[in-house]
Amino acid sequence: MAAINSYLNMRRGMTMARTPKIKETVNSRLLKDYASWIYCTSCNKTVAYLCYVTYDAFSFEYTCNCGSKGKVHIEFDGNVNVDKSDTLLIEVKNRLCCPKDKSPLVTFVNKNLIDYKCHIICKGCSTEYSISK
Ligand SMILES: [Zn+2]
Ligand SMILES: [Zn+2]
Repeated sequence: MAAINSYLNMRRGMTMARTPKIKETVNSRLLKDYASWIYCTSCNKTVAYLCYVTYDAFSFEYTCNCGSKGKVHIEFDGNVNVDKSDTLLIEVKNRLCCPKDKSPLVTFVNKNLIDYKCHIICKGCSTEYSISK
């Protein structure tokens, strides 16, 4: 029995390698478990798009155009030696990307947002960026 359980745990570990350590959402819904489109649950409009595999932590607080205040906070393991950077993300084809390794990170749907503040850690280079409107 023990052998079977450890085999199943191993299988689970492999298939769910990116299970977030923290996942909090307030008035918000994600299309996928920890990425893709983020919706305001009051008006059901999209407020941002988060890329799947390029971030280690994402925290986002916003006011939607409909007046609802929402929040999304997702963190994976492995944010130990994080560098904070004041550098702005670069925009490539509507995606905000890490200026160091060009990883696409996030897109904000500015027309549906009154204001927001966001912190994101790039998985590629362990750098934390801040973005706000
Ligand atoms: Zn809304
Ligand atoms: Zn990076």
